[in-house]
Amino acid sequence: MIYFDHNATTPLHPAALEAWLKATRDHWYNASSLYRAAAATAQRLDAARERLAELLGCDAARIVFTSGATEANNALLASWSLREGRVAISNIEHPSVREAAQRWLQGRVMELAVDSSGRITPTQIRSEASWVSIMAANNESGVLQPWEELANHCRQHGIPFHTDASQWIGKLNATALGTCDYLTGSAHKFGGPKGVGFLVLKDENEALRFMVGGPQEAKRRAGTENYPGIEAMVTALEQTTASIDTIAQEQTRLRDAFVAQMKLSIPELKIVNEYSPRLWNTVMLMMPTHDNRKWLARLSQRGFAISTGSACSSGAEGSSVVLTALGATHAELKRTLRVSGGWETGESDWKALADAFDEVRQDLDQSTRR
Ligand code: PMP
Repeated sequence: MIYFDHNATTPLHPAALEAWLKATRDHWYNASSLYRAAAATAQRLDAARERLAELLGCDAARIVFTSGATEANNALLASWSLREGRVAISNIEHPSVREAAQRWLQGRVMELAVDSSGRITPTQIRSEASWVSIMAANNESGVLQPWEELANHCRQHGIPFHTDASQWIGKLNATALGTCDYLTGSAHKFGGPKGVGFLVLKDENEALRFMVGGPQEAKRRAGTENYPGIEAMVTALEQTTASIDTIAQEQTRLRDAFVAQMKLSIPELKIVNEYSPRLWNTVMLMMPTHDNRKWLARLSQRGFAISTGSACSSGAEGSSVVLTALGATHAELKRTLRVSGGWETGESDWKALADAFDEVRQDLDQSTRR
């Protein structure tokens, strides 16, 4: 199978697998236990935190390891809900921010609408907001938000700024992300294992009370630390970071060649937010004809894994947050597909996918004519 669904999850990086196996084999002890072998696990956990801090450009004490981005986002919004104030989020946030904001800050959520380019501008943030949470890169369309400008604007106005950078980290340079007050990341989006991620807090002494029942993570997140997962996550990010600029350049070229070939064979094709700054791996395609599930099934038969709309909720009928925000019709929603390549995706893979789209188009056109 040729895999074009990296925004849903990524294959484990071989170095991350090695790191996980070694940690599980040799350092499986409970980092809170008091004998020497456990202390060694605790030391390695601290070292992993330092290495991650280096990659994100933040202080290690600000990092809280979690089970992933969903937990990190919920924990943060739940902690904000204990104080007075309102949160501003964009209308294209992942459900783990949107639904968590609605759940934890009922009636205290301001939704900012993206413009037709799929982006938020700093002037949309008004002083009524006590906190702002805007994602760095969108999981459906790949559109990049100007998070550095947004963070600066918030800093000038004394508003704490959070960014869910789950789709950004590992694909684009992450070393400045630590300058945001709050930051979310998830290992399985960049070649790490599933079920591990992190939340960076504004202040190293800041409390977090989402998971209680133990003193781990400086009393901020109870539960035995997943050291093997954390070790594998940090290793994966070190690996992707080492080649990030070359990969981004090369993959943008391959992705653009794919789009050019697609437009030649399907001229009425539309690419969602085509001219906005986007992740190098993502293309959201609005097909001129045929239901997206038909495209997906026929491409799957030919050995290609792609997705409809947002992966996390692609099982749910008509559930694209991005298309809704952009005012797409229901019919357009039903014709939309998402292709997301990865670090290992080659020129021949992109070419084969475009060829397969062309074959499926002929196949579908014929079957509707019959
Ligand atoms: N935020 C974004 C932007 C995502 O794309 C995802 C995964 N689809 C999540 C949060 C949730 O991540 P996790 O699977 O680690 O809970």
